[in-house]
Amino acid sequence: MTMLNVGRPTQPEAAVEVTPRSLTGGRGLLQDEALIFERDGWTKTGVDLPEPTRDASDLGGLLRDEPIGLPGLSEPETVRHYVRLSQKNHAIDLALYPLGSCTMKHNPRLNEKAARLAGFADLHPLQPVSTTQGALALIDRLAHWLKTLTAMPAVAMSPKAGAHGELCGLLTIRAAHEAKGDSARRRVLVPTSAHGTNPATAAFVGYSVAEIAQTGDGRVDLADLAAKLGPDVAAIMVTNPNTCGLFERDIIEIARLAHEAGAYFYCDGANFNAIVGRVRPGDLGVDAMHINLHKTFSTPHGGGGPGAGPVVLSEALAPFAPAPWITHGPEGFDLVEQAEGPAAQAFGRMSAFHGQMGMFVRAYAYMLSHGADGLRQVAEDAVLNANYVKARLADVMTPAFPDGPCMHEALFDDEWLAGTGVSTLDFAKAMIDEGFHPMTMYFPLVVHGAMLIEPTETESKQELDRFCDALRALAEAAKAGDVERFKGAPFLAPMRRLDETLAARKPRLTWKAED
Ligand SMILES: *Cc1c(COP(=O)(O)O)cnc(C)c1O
Repeated sequence: MTMLNVGRPTQPEAAVEVTPRSLTGGRGLLQDEALIFERDGWTKTGVDLPEPTRDASDLGGLLRDEPIGLPGLSEPETVRHYVRLSQKNHAIDLALYPLGSCTMKHNPRLNEKAARLAGFADLHPLQPVSTTQGALALIDRLAHWLKTLTAMPAVAMSPKAGAHGELCGLLTIRAAHEAKGDSARRRVLVPTSAHGTNPATAAFVGYSVAEIAQTGDGRVDLADLAAKLGPDVAAIMVTNPNTCGLFERDIIEIARLAHEAGAYFYCDGANFNAIVGRVRPGDLGVDAMHINLHKTFSTPHGGGGPGAGPVVLSEALAPFAPAPWITHGPEGFDLVEQAEGPAAQAFGRMSAFHGQMGMFVRAYAYMLSHGADGLRQVAEDAVLNANYVKARLADVMTPAFPDGPCMHEALFDDEWLAGTGVSTLDFAKAMIDEGFHPMTMYFPLVVHGAMLIEPTETESKQELDRFCDALRALAEAAKAGDVERFKGAPFLAPMRRLDETLAARKPRLTWKAED
């Protein structure tokens, strides 16, 4: 979801300008300002160092005679620059963040407090294990609860995001097939509605990707799946609940068909937040599934912090899980770092150390503070909130799958915008002027002009009503022909409508003085 464009963005001329415009480019109390590198201050520094006493000639010809090229700012200038930058972004601490599939839920402060305990925060990954017993115990406890919640016997903790978890899962599956001497399996089946990381991961592992068709009610087409399964299929990758926000009713049959064909069932568990405490994926026949701790278990992400994507594994796949393995013996916890001992069949490793310790602490704190009943209620409230949004907007927008309830996200198509001259993109940009971050747009690809709203369980009815009221007002404005309001939007944001394609295709990630 993040677009990187460090250079100053160019803004296309807007159709309508807000009057009066400010004289400086500032908006409200948000000043317009140059990049930190463009500021006048190259000779200044925020710290006061004594003149060096060592003979600089020690450095021979390496002595720098040009300015160092870093911006020179005092502490208040630096602090203000970064605080102003942070105010140009949306954050979960500012308001509802309805990005479907991304699960932007509140990050409880209790978790932050636990993660900042010096014993966790100051750990060094190269410390001897005798000094990190508490941290290893925490990883082991978190692993225990992940296995319990999913009814799976093993979990690889080190993957650092959902996509990294998918890679871990498919590499485990490939190792399992290879251990059986079965190298003929070259294909992975993925539904058309899948998150882009699914086919990308399969391709990255060296598999070819074949699509499974979708039924009219937004689920996997069983007949198409059965027809495509065969001795060349290594795995199927299915998301449940799927990216249309719908539970795959035939999930057990999907697993059975895959196993019958000798393939493994990789479940994309990014939407586990909709079923945690209610459904155990192991009971459905899943062989491997990543869990985005930053989605289901509330750890910060999307610019707020790194992800973490532990992968739960079935009995058949467990021996191939990547190192490190945490073992427990008479001396306490230990780490198996190489493919040896109990980890003799490990396919390798995913990262240098154990994974995202800070996120493990937060996720574990979230689990303990909710308890079993609380986690179940998390899933129930997430589903309730999404259905509330769907019900409140169904008469002014068009739900993509109107029949029956949705799971944790409400999906709309753009049929209701037909003839208004307003597109999904225009509508989303106009939401910014109303103070609301847009929902996920144009995903999943199987729904025309998709708008995917995921409120999560952390929003109150009052917040959901404010959000729905704003969307209803905009929908009515679009239908009443107020096209101007949409075409140039956002009018009131610090940055107007940017060329997002250019930003994605030609990101300017460095700044050069001559730019
Ligand atoms: C978020 C998401 C992913 C990828 O997870 P990251 O942690 O962003 O790498 C994969 N699949 C689905 C359905 C997702 O929502």
